[in-house]
Amino acid sequence: MHNQDQKLIFEVSTPGRVGYSLPEMDVPEADVAALLPEGYLREEEPLLPEVSELDIMRHYTSLSRRNHGVDSGFYPLGSCTMKYNPKINENVARYNGFAHIHPLQDESSVQGALELLYDLQQHLKEITGMDEVTLQPAAGAHGEWTGLMMIRAYHEANGNLKRTKVIVPDSAHGTNPASATVAGLETVTVKSNENGLVDLEDLRRVVGEDTAALMLTNPNTLGLFEEHIVEIADIVHEAGGKVYYDGANLNAVLSKARPGDMGFDVVHLNLHKTFTGPHGGGGPGSGPVGVKSDLIPFLPRPVIAKRGDEYVLDYDRPQSIGRVKPYYGNFGINVRAYTYIRSMGPDGLKAVTEYAVLNANYMMRRLAEYYDLPFDRHCKHEFVLSGRRQKKLGVRTLDIAKRLLDFGFHPPTIYFPLNVEECIMIEPTETESKETLDSFIDIMIQIAKEAEENPEIVQEAPHTTVVGRLDETTAARKPVLRYQNA
Ligand SMILES: *Cc1c(COP(=O)(O)O)cnc(C)c1O
Repeated sequence: MHNQDQKLIFEVSTPGRVGYSLPEMDVPEADVAALLPEGYLREEEPLLPEVSELDIMRHYTSLSRRNHGVDSGFYPLGSCTMKYNPKINENVARYNGFAHIHPLQDESSVQGALELLYDLQQHLKEITGMDEVTLQPAAGAHGEWTGLMMIRAYHEANGNLKRTKVIVPDSAHGTNPASATVAGLETVTVKSNENGLVDLEDLRRVVGEDTAALMLTNPNTLGLFEEHIVEIADIVHEAGGKVYYDGANLNAVLSKARPGDMGFDVVHLNLHKTFTGPHGGGGPGSGPVGVKSDLIPFLPRPVIAKRGDEYVLDYDRPQSIGRVKPYYGNFGINVRAYTYIRSMGPDGLKAVTEYAVLNANYMMRRLAEYYDLPFDRHCKHEFVLSGRRQKKLGVRTLDIAKRLLDFGFHPPTIYFPLNVEECIMIEPTETESKETLDSFIDIMIQIAKEAEENPEIVQEAPHTTVVGRLDETTAARKPVLRYQNA
């Protein structure tokens, strides 16, 4: 669906119009048919819009104005760490020596790029308390799968073929069980207790000789710190399993506590979350994985290593699970994360966590009067509210999310984690000012009052956006991929 004044690029298209001018060709035309195998040759011309440069600039500028991004407004999407992406990262990622090198260049000609990656690995080892790091995985979920494949290879190398179960809490992110399945393992759920933390009794019940690993994020997806993390890790280790850290919530403990010191054996980081890679819309991301020493042999190859003064790609890893991504991973995101770590410095990174946690607790306390607070305890970088009070008035959490759009706010995460009814999950991040937090809180309070006094205005929201409420299932299942004349 599209409204009248926003045309599709194919509707703007005029036959014969071009957006470029090239000099006349002064070399013979290549015989493409002779260069490519037959199966790869097109039978028809591709359907492409024919537009001028100005048409296409206006088209994308107009689309960008209808979109919501961190640069245009507050984006408190819980679990996603939509913090500001410093623009110096972009400058550095665009340096010719980074942006214009070719992934197939000889190692000797890309020493600077390899040094940056090696140095980034060193920083991430220090930050996580791990012994070695791979930068290959393309995002968090890919890191999860990579880490589980290494754990699987580790158990197999020790002759433990029956360790096929991955324990995940009932509040876990959907990627955790998905990664376990793709890694050929089975998921077992461990319950949360009334405080929103892992139920130790239930953990003792599900752990056993078939346990490959426990996957956990700390703080968990409710924004609560697992106080018994050392005991949890001990229970799993005693049963012979490994403990996996889903690093999506690292913003809550960065430079304060290290997963390696809590007893975790494998860690993935979401550089696009904690370390300011711009994300949303599906990418690009970077999901480095760190491991303790006994898992080092299984790391994806090549590993970036230093020999004397030289940086090399080490392929000589006989027990490696193999390559998980072509070339060097998402290099540009790794450059941005490196720039962020270096420009913040150790004190700057500590302040990140302090402000992220302060902002979340401030918002939680101010909102607790108007929305139900399922876990009334100190939170970390994010917190969950329940819209069950509003639901009794006929206003669902989805309606509240849509109403926020009328005020220019991106809604928080809703209906996740699944163990909280009408869940609203808010992550303000450290980069927002008190004024921004206050204006969001004021609107949330206004919406709570509207739910009591004038529920229709919330139920029918949004009112001020370019399009009204969409049929989201159809929008997701049947996106308009290309324009065709019916
Ligand atoms: C974002 C997230 C993931 C997945 O990470 P991607 O980088 O999006 O693949 C996993 N677990 C949690 C808790 C997350 O918030």
